[in-house]
Amino acid sequence: MKQPIFHQRNECIICGSTQLEKLFDSKDFFLTKENYSLIKCRDCSLILTTPYPDESNAAAYYESQNYFSHQDRKEGTIAKIYNLVKILNVKKKYQVATKNLTVGKVFDIGCGTGDFLSYSKKHAWEIFGLEPNNDARKLAEEKLQTQLLKSIEQAELKSEEIQLITLWHVLEHIYKPEELMRFIDKVLDKNGRLVVALPNYESYDAVYYRKYWAAFDLPRHLFHFNKKSIVQLMNKHGLVLKKIVPMRWDAYYVSILSEKYKNPESISFFVKGLYKGFISNFKAKRTMNYSSLIYIFEKK
Ligand SMILES: [Zn+2]
Repeated sequence: MKQPIFHQRNECIICGSTQLEKLFDSKDFFLTKENYSLIKCRDCSLILTTPYPDESNAAAYYESQNYFSHQDRKEGTIAKIYNLVKILNVKKKYQVATKNLTVGKVFDIGCGTGDFLSYSKKHAWEIFGLEPNNDARKLAEEKLQTQLLKSIEQAELKSEEIQLITLWHVLEHIYKPEELMRFIDKVLDKNGRLVVALPNYESYDAVYYRKYWAAFDLPRHLFHFNKKSIVQLMNKHGLVLKKIVPMRWDAYYVSILSEKYKNPESISFFVKGLYKGFISNFKAKRTMNYSSLIYIFEKK
């Protein structure tokens, strides 16, 4: 077997700063149990995963039948909770993303098994999707009866062709966010919209669970954003923040999973996680620091 290659981060990918401060060590609780660290940019406050696997080995970190966003699994407690949250979220995501937009072309980047696109298609949107994971893409193509892209290099879109681009918990996985943002800037209609959903490391559940917080998801999540860092990245590419909308269900799912990472033997992880999810949402009413946030950006 080929020796896997890792790289260290010594520069911020948003602002170029080398003022990176170590936060704490954590690990890949989900799959490999490998150790990683989190470092934070003193200038723009982006948190980066270091070291990180070479892109040529990235797919290996998703090879698990428990990586639910790539499948339509229905057995097991965590899978059941994930699917319930998915059903509750898809309608909400659609309403938030399309509010006050005329029906047109939607491009879901990192579309997983295609549930958001399926819902959008039912509402008369012309759909475009991209999913690098082969199994997920095949499931989505069957569901949507259309061919999807494997990478942005395959896209044959004209300038400003797309009215709505969505990144549902995707940007944090992308190896070259700057390259993706240049692509988005090119294909997004001047009156179009970019919707970005991200975990929020300033949420109560993130601070409480710290190294066990499931939404750090190392090393699949290469970057970790707060409001300041995502806005700075988008502004660099001519996109302006219009609105932030909470994803309340994620606090429960993420807290239950974090509780399991923290106490793997515990039988009360479900109840404890539910309780912490509730506390997180309650505190966020005042601070807007929900576990996950949807950011709406437009070109002007
Ligand atoms: Zn920075």
